Amino acid sequence: MPEGDTIHKLARGLRPELQGQPIETLWLRDRGEVDALAGRHVREISVLGKHLLIGFGRPESRPAFALHVHLGMKGRFQRIRPGEPPRRPPWQDTARITTASARHVFTRTAICELLPAAAMAEHPSLLRLGPDLLAPEVSFDRVLARARRREPGNAADLLLDQGVACGIGNVYKSEVLFLMGVHPETPTTALSDATILSLFRCARRLMRRNLGGWRRTTLRRVTEDTRPRPGDPRFFVYGRAGRPCRRCGTLLRGGRVGDAARTTTWCPTCQPAPPSPVAPARVAARSVGVSRTRR
Ligand SMILES: [Zn+2]
Repeated sequence: MPEGDTIHKLARGLRPELQGQPIETLWLRDRGEVDALAGRHVREISVLGKHLLIGFGRPESRPAFALHVHLGMKGRFQRIRPGEPPRRPPWQDTARITTASARHVFTRTAICELLPAAAMAEHPSLLRLGPDLLAPEVSFDRVLARARRREPGNAADLLLDQGVACGIGNVYKSEVLFLMGVHPETPTTALSDATILSLFRCARRLMRRNLGGWRRTTLRRVTEDTRPRPGDPRFFVYGRAGRPCRRCGTLLRGGRVGDAARTTTWCPTCQPAPPSPVAPARVAARSVGVSRTRR
């Protein structure tokens, strides 16, 4: 599932081959080929949380247009070289950027829109975002202030709230809560400032470790040479409900937690339940699957 690290890795891969390059065509599902962009250059590629922004313009000028992409739950990216067949059926395409060397295709995206670059600064879904946890510098004071300004909820929803800090998805949410020993249903009013800061700092640390070309893992710091091999364990709790905790052996619990009702896994021993009773209707043991995402 795309989380903040996925999008930063995508941008890192796209920059060397697209940035500064002229495009032959930009095709969008809802507009067809955009004549105004033929021959324009890709001027910059940036990321805000799970949002990818590709700016187009004339050489040596600021971008005039920006393609705004959010992969959502099902969105994917594929690069198709001349002569290669697409790996996904073309009817799933939402945007195609064609250059002399390849076709760069986004499929089944949640958001794929082309806007005047100036409009991006006023875009409501971008304006509400908190600091990007993978930005070179992060103001954790701002993260904490945003965490305290939101409506009280639980710790799981807090981490997924892109308005507090952006980039965390369902995988890092469960892993961070486990590593910090916080039960997912702990009310945010019961979390100290220090705990909130530790949660978001932990998320940044884990995501930064996973910006290489390997499959995401939180178990250890890896490099290109020590990347997880197929079948290697990769997570402490994510996707492991019903299996023993890697630290204490207690069987992990899983369920849909919080207003977002996203699948969450936790260890009942390492992450003690909060003092107030957990409403049983909101925690369905061993349920699987996901419902909706927060952008
Ligand atoms: Zn445990």
